Amino acid sequence: MRYFPLFADLHDRRVLVVGGGAVAERKVRLLLEAGARVRLVAPEVTAWLREHPSITVHREQFDPQHFEGAVFAIAATDDRAVNEAVAAAGRERNALVNVVDVAELSSFIVPAIVDRTPLVIAISTGGVAPVLARLVRERLESLIDGSFGQLAGLLQRWRGRIKGGLPDVNARRRFYETVVRGQVAALVRNNDLPRAERELERTLQQADTPRQGRVVLVGAGPGDAGLLTLNALRALQEADVILHDRLVADEVLNLARRDADRICVGKMAGGHSVSQGRINELLLEQARLGRRVVRLKGGDPFIFGRGGEELEFLEQHGIPFEVVPGITAAIACGAYAGIPLTHREHAQSVRFVTAHSGDSMGDLDWATLARERQTLALYMGVAGLGTIRDQLVRHGRAPSTPVAIVENGSRSNQRVVLATLAELEDAGRAAAVKSPALVIVGEVAALAGKLHWFGSAPVSWQALRAVA
Ligand code: SAH
Repeated sequence: MRYFPLFADLHDRRVLVVGGGAVAERKVRLLLEAGARVRLVAPEVTAWLREHPSITVHREQFDPQHFEGAVFAIAATDDRAVNEAVAAAGRERNALVNVVDVAELSSFIVPAIVDRTPLVIAISTGGVAPVLARLVRERLESLIDGSFGQLAGLLQRWRGRIKGGLPDVNARRRFYETVVRGQVAALVRNNDLPRAERELERTLQQADTPRQGRVVLVGAGPGDAGLLTLNALRALQEADVILHDRLVADEVLNLARRDADRICVGKMAGGHSVSQGRINELLLEQARLGRRVVRLKGGDPFIFGRGGEELEFLEQHGIPFEVVPGITAAIACGAYAGIPLTHREHAQSVRFVTAHSGDSMGDLDWATLARERQTLALYMGVAGLGTIRDQLVRHGRAPSTPVAIVENGSRSNQRVVLATLAELEDAGRAAAVKSPALVIVGEVAALAGKLHWFGSAPVSWQALRAVA
């Protein structure tokens, strides 16, 4: 970060402004709003500047003496020599200077702002792309409507009473969150301040009764954060603590409330870091502390995610819960590899199958899985590609059936390998495919050749073999 962001209290502080035109006038208006005492230096000044009672105007050339007593200076002249003189005088005194629109002469920059006083949003691109900052400001202007300012004003008026009523910081934080996301904010948006105020009072009275913790089981999707649902995003932003799997992408975790505790209970095929029993206990402990617990799982929590078992455990212990579905790997990999999982000409059904080489492969009903005109989406199959091929072929699926291996589906490092069922194991080995990867078996897999649109083009087994 090149510039340090800060909001300065300028009340009754002297600020020097050099320049007397329209730009200077804009800066002075803002400074006066913030309660600063402005000393203005310029031979020529606009009528507004000249006549404003609380500006001290020096109608003369800039002199370093003008810096006397000022906390910082803004140079807003179109005379490069004057701007440089102000910058030099500032450096000599170790005082901050902003030369409007000249980053190399400035030791601070004035951000673009969205003003919903007392809520103020400052935006800066570090002087690199003011146009971009303006664009961001416009977006925020439309997103953060005037009610945010009113809400902030309401909270400001109630601050003392809220603090008195809820001495505990955590209780206070929870209270504020209920207010800004709930009924009070809605009433302010509807412009019904009196009712908003009554609702605030009611919420405050109820706030110190101990809270019942709850667990939200959330599907984090396959990796691309854009695939989260709005409910998932809200749960992440309201969480006190997040227990997440290793599969969950950083991109998704970065959307969580910053001061939520994060516990990685990552389970990877093979290396079990935290046992299921321990995960259940952690969920219970956290919920019993009255916290909002998010249990965040890759993909969808009910598809090969043991979400069901966790909920059964919570249900036994009387902990309330909710479920937010996520986009499961098969759906995401199909979409991001250009493989429609069903297709009128090729597949009337799709089956999600766990092909974990350790425990489940032996129990699968291979005879049904080998039927034609269906698509198989095999989860956790990377270590068992040979078994998948052998069993399906033995039970009658054609060795020439197209297959695709989608590694890191929807992520920036997605890879898609296309082969036939007969070539599945060799192709996986030649490409050194690693978990997480999904195997798609069926005629539809071949469509990736022409329908792929995301990331690098699929590689075929032929191409891999030519390289090897
Ligand atoms: N609940 C998850 C599945 C957990 S099992 C879901 O609904 O997606 C873990 C397996 O999911 C991995 O071994 C892999 O087969 C698959 N998987 C998860 N994320 C994936 C991704 N981004 N790309 C490819 N496969 C993925």
